[in-house]
Amino acid sequence: MTPVIQLIKKQIIPETVDRTPDRFQVFTEKQLDKIAVLSRLSEQHRFEMRVVSTVLPFRVNQYVLDYLINWNNIPDDPMFQLVFPQKGMLSEQDFEQMATVLKSTTDRSLIQQTANEIRQRLNPHPAEQLSLNVPSIEEQSAEGIQHKYRETVLFFPGQGQVCHSFCSFCFRWAQFIGDKNLRFSNKEAEQLHTYLVKHKKITDLLITGGDPMVMKTDHLVSYLEPLLRPEFKHVQTIRIGTKSLSFWPQRFVNDADADALLALFSRLVKAGKHVALMAHFNHWREMSTLITQEAIQRIRATGVVIRTQSPLLNHINNDPDIWAQMWREQVRLGMVPYYMFVERDTGARHYFEVPLARTWEVYRQAIQKVSGLARTARGPSMSTGPGKIEIHGVSEINGEKVFVLRFIQARNPDWVQRPFFAKYDTDATWLDQLRPAFGEEKFFFQDEYDAMLLKQISPRAY
Ligand SMILES: *Cc1c(COP(=O)(O)O)cnc(C)c1O
Repeated sequence: MTPVIQLIKKQIIPETVDRTPDRFQVFTEKQLDKIAVLSRLSEQHRFEMRVVSTVLPFRVNQYVLDYLINWNNIPDDPMFQLVFPQKGMLSEQDFEQMATVLKSTTDRSLIQQTANEIRQRLNPHPAEQLSLNVPSIEEQSAEGIQHKYRETVLFFPGQGQVCHSFCSFCFRWAQFIGDKNLRFSNKEAEQLHTYLVKHKKITDLLITGGDPMVMKTDHLVSYLEPLLRPEFKHVQTIRIGTKSLSFWPQRFVNDADADALLALFSRLVKAGKHVALMAHFNHWREMSTLITQEAIQRIRATGVVIRTQSPLLNHINNDPDIWAQMWREQVRLGMVPYYMFVERDTGARHYFEVPLARTWEVYRQAIQKVSGLARTARGPSMSTGPGKIEIHGVSEINGEKVFVLRFIQARNPDWVQRPFFAKYDTDATWLDQLRPAFGEEKFFFQDEYDAMLLKQISPRAY
């Protein structure tokens, strides 16, 4: 154990860490009534939560209930909004439809049918994820792999397709509602390894989910340890996307295989891989518990870098002060702010989305409040079909007010870092609501992207 960790343990263990739950106890929509603290809410409020959780995924654990949510500030508390369903997350019409069915029947199949009908209206698969990004290996599509940008492959391990708690805004919500057809998953490490060996331009592997940190360390070892062999030398970086530092920091501190996990991290780093934990934090509150801070220290002591990301979300963090404080705190704890995303065009988007003009204001004001070390956060960025598009700014050119945009990541690498312009629009929340400026008909990438959609080109073609 390093001195840093000893110091922190001495400071925190007696009071707080011992009181934090170390047994993982979870509640899903079927157990909403079993969450004792919800008895503080009105019957009507609880019914509303039941209606919404019949359509959108819900899952919370005892640690989140006890340590993250401020129950004296319900329903406005950002952590409450982050995990608990709210009436406004469905349109009025969809809400009424579901409420009527729940009031009139207990027939599971009728309830499911209505829920599925509503889900289909919520754009379950944004940005052509299913059609364009799934590569094939010997004519068989490799379902647990997505390859959109030349140098980076996403891998969805079969055992990591759930999270310790669900976020109410999650753009991967469709994976969690039990329909196996909608799920990306991959039980075979082999398929991943075969794909990586064949594609030497891939430098980055991004393990994602769900949350890969729900997996036992043994599983992670079987995916990651083989990457130390010479045929994987081109895979320099292993990123792991996770919300576990917020929702279950015990994973890195006192879970039975926490030490084995950290030992795996150390081995990968010592063997020369860059290992980055891509941590999702939506609010500084999530970093305020001592056990999360201890988890961060333990991870950093292995040489793993923690980078952070979050969308800008109405009801949760639509405020430059929240972002500035979050980024400052991240830098203080030794993490690197990486992305600010725009809420995606799926699921409960209408509840969480913020106009693009406002996202830029929040980003700009937050960046102005922090030092250069926290200005590593890129964005606000829209993850669209053609690529990640950054709202670079608002300007006026020849008397026309415009958004200045640019790709920070694109299906064709040649599109990256070329400024392009859209008509300024106070209400637009996504790319499909933007029109090219200066009377142009299309954005510069449109024809090429349309051709990709027709031919289903994956980035390996470049
Ligand atoms: C964001 C993203 C990546 C990683 O892009 P970076 O710019 O390297 O962070 C890879 N694949 C997909 C599908 C992504 O959305």
